[in-house]
Amino acid sequence: MPSFTEENYLKAIYKLSEATPGTDVSTNGIAEVLQTRPASVTDMLRRLGEKGLLHYQRYRGVSLTQEGRQLALLTIRKHRLWEVFLVQKLGFNWDEVHDVAEQMEHIDSLLLVRRLDEFLGFPRLDPHGDPIPTEDGAMPRPKSRLVSDLVPGEQGRLMAVKNTSPSFLQYLDKVGLKLGSAIEVLDKITFDNSLEVRVNTDKIIMLSPEVGRNLFVAD
Ligand SMILES: [Zn+2]
Repeated sequence: MPSFTEENYLKAIYKLSEATPGTDVSTNGIAEVLQTRPASVTDMLRRLGEKGLLHYQRYRGVSLTQEGRQLALLTIRKHRLWEVFLVQKLGFNWDEVHDVAEQMEHIDSLLLVRRLDEFLGFPRLDPHGDPIPTEDGAMPRPKSRLVSDLVPGEQGRLMAVKNTSPSFLQYLDKVGLKLGSAIEVLDKITFDNSLEVRVNTDKIIMLSPEVGRNLFVAD
C-alpha cells in the first residue's frame, strides 16, 4: 500500500505530465507543486522508482509506469468522488471541498470507493467540472474551450473551472456564475482583452482576461 505522501507524489507527477504531454516531469516542477525541497523530492523519486511506480533518471526527469499511473488515477478518482459527496450529500459549497477531499482520497478500501460511486449515482464530473476517472483508470476528456478564446457572438455553457482555489470560486459565486450557466461573449475590449459577457440571458458582467482563461465552456 503506498503512503499518503507517495500517493500525493504520483498524483502531482500525473498532473504535471498531463500539462505538458510527451515530456518528462522535472524534479523542480514536483518540488514546486508539493512545496518541498528538490533534495527531498529526489529521495522520494528514488523510492518510487524502486517500487516500480515511475522511471527516474537523474537530470532527465520522471515518467510514471503503467502501475504508477493507475495509482495516480485511483487517487484522483477518490478525491473527485469525495468532492461530489461533500457537495451533494453534506451541503458543502464548491470552494470548501478540496482540502477535505485531500484527506479522504487516502482511504484505501476499494469497496468503499465502489459503494460511494454507486451511492452518488455514478457521477462523471466533480463539483468543479473535472472528469472522474473510471474504475479501470480511463480519464474521460470532455470537449471544451476557454472563455478567453471565444469571439464576440459566441456562447457556451460553463462546464468546468481551471482554477479551483477558494478565492476564484468565491468570486464566481459573487458574480453568479456556476456550472451550467450560459455565457455569451458580447464584446472583447481591445485595451486589455477583458470580456463583456451575458450570463443566463439577463445579467451583463465584465470578466478580466485572467478569469476568462480559467473558465471552460462547451456547446
Ligand atoms: Zn479537489
